Amino acid sequence: MRIAVLALQGAFAEHERMLSRLGADPFEVRQPADWDQPKDGLIIPGGESTTQLKLLTDLQLLEPVRRAIEAGLPVFGTCAGLILLSKHVEGEDFDRLSTMDTTVCRNAYGRQLGSFHTEAPFKGLSGKIPMTFIRAPYIKRVEGKTEVLAEVGGHIVAAREGNQLVTAFHPELNADTSVHNYFLQMCQARK
Ligand code: GLN
Repeated sequence: MRIAVLALQGAFAEHERMLSRLGADPFEVRQPADWDQPKDGLIIPGGESTTQLKLLTDLQLLEPVRRAIEAGLPVFGTCAGLILLSKHVEGEDFDRLSTMDTTVCRNAYGRQLGSFHTEAPFKGLSGKIPMTFIRAPYIKRVEGKTEVLAEVGGHIVAAREGNQLVTAFHPELNADTSVHNYFLQMCQARK
């Protein structure tokens, strides 16, 4: 399976390694010509959502990416990727990709507390999943058809709405491949 990894900024290389370990075929999206390649899914990595939004806008990729997601392309957003996909961001009133019925709080734990490691159950996966948070947001609210997949300390940290999967944590930074495997199954199901 060919998975586009948005490689404008942030932790994209770690996602590519994870996908390769699982036998998928990742490629980097740095400019519109990359985006035009055939693909079975898209990963939007963690990093800095404001920087990624600016680059997506400058490269005129924001609209094509949004349209592809709305047309059903499976997408997995981690951390900054979650922020870009959320329809609502607390205290900020401008459009991002804004395709998913979630409300997020950015840097929600405070600058220091936002970085920690824990393990928690994840709906549809067995055992506890290692979760690394880095200046993390959390999901304050889900609406519509959005399903909560994981919670930590009373906050939602993973959710799914149809073809869209988001985590506030960084599964690409741990050895456990199960969240990426979950996403690849979403991509496979759409093929
Ligand atoms: N705090 C970052 C933002 O608002 C996200 C942090 C991350 O992706 N690790 O974009």
